Amino acid sequence: MTRTAIRTPRDVRARCEVRRGCHVWTGAVSRRGHPYASIDGRTQYVRRWLFEQLHGWVPRVVGLTCENLLCCNPKHLVAQDVCDVRRRAAANVAQPELRARRVALGRERAGLVKVNQAAADAIRASELPAKEEAKQWGISAKHVHQIRQGKRWPPQQQGALAMAAAVLLGSAL
Ligand SMILES: [Zn+2]
Repeated sequence: MTRTAIRTPRDVRARCEVRRGCHVWTGAVSRRGHPYASIDGRTQYVRRWLFEQLHGWVPRVVGLTCENLLCCNPKHLVAQDVCDVRRRAAANVAQPELRARRVALGRERAGLVKVNQAAADAIRASELPAKEEAKQWGISAKHVHQIRQGKRWPPQQQGALAMAAAVLLGSAL
């Protein structure tokens, strides 16, 4: 590692670019887009660490008053509990597409969306971009890719949801 280690909040600031009042993190981010770094020999979420340095405690959730997921501006950090996060998510209708995608992903992870054989065949035969196809089925584009690559079509469940998928397929043809 050639960069200066993070020891103080000032070191975090040094790894950020100021943009419209936000301190935009330029270092590594988690899969979900949260800034993280090796601090005190451990991989840590930067905002959580920063909050603790500044306030002496860590809340359940370190939220942001801005909408910038990369922001590490101490003034934009806010302590939240899980209810705050849920309320915020529920109010987050400004980005319907993002919301729809999250819902689809969540459903898929929860195993609620199952694609039956006929649907999988239709997805493979379709010329539509994966993104478009995904929208029609309420699954993720990744799921569509996996089906097309033959890596996946979950055959475990031929229940109500699979039937619903078949009905959807019928109406699409
Ligand atoms: Zn900000």
